Amino acid sequence: MYIRDILKEKKPSLSFEIFPPKQDLPVDKVYDTLEKLNTLSPDYISVTYGAGGSNSDRMMEIATTVQGKMNQTALAHFTCVGASKENVESKLIDMQGAGIKNILALRGDIPVGMDASDAFTSYRYASDLVKHIKSTADMSIGVAAYPEMHYASDDRKSDIENLKIKVDAGADFIVTQMFFDNNVFFEFRDIAKKAGIHVPMVTGIMPVLDATQILRMTKMSGCSIPSKLSRMFARYERDNESMRDAGLDYCIEQINQLIENDVDGVHIYSMNKWEATTKIVNACGLR
Ligand code: FAD
Repeated sequence: MYIRDILKEKKPSLSFEIFPPKQDLPVDKVYDTLEKLNTLSPDYISVTYGAGGSNSDRMMEIATTVQGKMNQTALAHFTCVGASKENVESKLIDMQGAGIKNILALRGDIPVGMDASDAFTSYRYASDLVKHIKSTADMSIGVAAYPEMHYASDDRKSDIENLKIKVDAGADFIVTQMFFDNNVFFEFRDIAKKAGIHVPMVTGIMPVLDATQILRMTKMSGCSIPSKLSRMFARYERDNESMRDAGLDYCIEQINQLIENDVDGVHIYSMNKWEATTKIVNACGLR
C-alpha cells in the first residue's frame, strides 16, 4: 500500500524503524525481530540505508522480505550522497520490481573516506532526489525533517524553507528526527504549517533505553536533552535497569502527549529491540 493512502486513513499511524546488521554479521536476528514487531500490526516498517549506500544490499533484502514474505508495507530509506543518476535509476527499478512502493528520500551525510567534491555531483539536496523519483517512479515519497533544525542549517527559518522546497518537489509525507521535548515539535509543526507545509508529519520517537547511546546520538544530531531527562541520566548513572524502566516511562508519557495533541503518526526508532517497542506500544494503547 502507498503510505500516502495509509496516512489518509489512519491517525495516528504506527510504524517502526529497523536497521540492517553490518554485511559481515548474521541477518537472522533481524527477521526474528521483524516477526515479533509485525505481531503489533504496524501500518508500515521502515528499513534504514547504510551511510553513502554501504550495506544497501541488506536494506533491499530486508525491505523486500517485509513487503513480500511478510505481506507488510515497507518504507525503504534511500540516500543520494555520492550516487550517480544511473545508480539511483537502477536501484529504483530494483525496488519497484520487489514491489516496494514507498521510499524515504534522503540526501545522507558524506561517508568517511569520500571526498566532499565527489559527494554532490549528481544530487545536491534531498529535494533533487525527490524530483528524480517523482519524475520516473510511481512511489509514495517521504522526506526527513528536523524539529530542532538540521545540524548544518544556519537558522530555523531557512531550514523550514528548504523543507518546503523538498515537499513541493513531490513528497507525500514527513518523518521527523527524534526529539525529547514535545513542545519543540508542536512549535515546529505550527511554523511549518504557517510556511505552507501541509503533508502529514509523522513523529520519530527514540526510546530512551541507554543514556550513553542517547547522549552520543544527540551530540551528532544536535537534538536537545530536556532537564527532566538529564536528571534521569544522572540519577541512574550506575543502574542500567532502573535507567531503562525510567526511560520507557518517559517515552510512553511522550507518545501519550503526542497522541493527545493529534499527531499524524508515531514512528518508533526500534533500534531492533522488539521487547521495549512492544511495551511502549501496549502501554500507549496504540494497538
Ligand atoms: P536535505 O533535505 O538535503 O538537507 C540537508 C541540509 O541542506 C539541511 O541543512 C537543509 O536545510 C539544507 N538544504 C536543503 N535543501 C536546500 C536548498 N535547496 N538550498 C540550500 N540548502 C538546502 N541517513 C542515512 O544515511 N541513512 C538513513 O537511512 C537515514 N534515515 C533517516 C531517517 C530520518 C527520519 C532522518 C530525520 C534522518 C535520516 N538519515 C539517514 C540522516 C540524513 O541522511 C542526514 O540528516 C543528512 O544530513 C540530511 O539528509 P536530508 O535528506 O534531510 O537532507
